[in-house]
Amino acid sequence: MEKKEKIEEKKKEIAAGAVCDDKQCPEHGTLSARGRIFEGTVVKKHLRRIAIELERTVYIKKYERYMKKKTRLHARVPMCKEQSVQIGDYVQIQECRPLSKIIHFVYIKTIRTKDKEKGK
Ligand SMILES: [Zn+2]
Repeated sequence: MEKKEKIEEKKKEIAAGAVCDDKQCPEHGTLSARGRIFEGTVVKKHLRRIAIELERTVYIKKYERYMKKKTRLHARVPMCKEQSVQIGDYVQIQECRPLSKIIHFVYIKTIRTKDKEKGK
């Protein structure tokens, strides 16, 4: 609980215009985003972490047809961008150094939000 409270405080600070001091931020921290770039829909959101899902087609030789396959990638969301990501958004992530067992991507930007998609 204490950790959560601290994070809530941080969020408020950032909302008030304080400078982001997250080390794992490609803009304000020391984390460098390099490598492959992926785009996908946010399917899950945790504290400072999102899971995005992207669809790709795989050729099945036996049936001479393509199959849809889904890939899930986990990405770090820097503190300063925490509020700009919501579930259902279409976002862009870029590869970075491994931050944990499953996270080796970092959130770059939101391409379109869920609300905009509904309006189409
Ligand atoms: Zn930042």
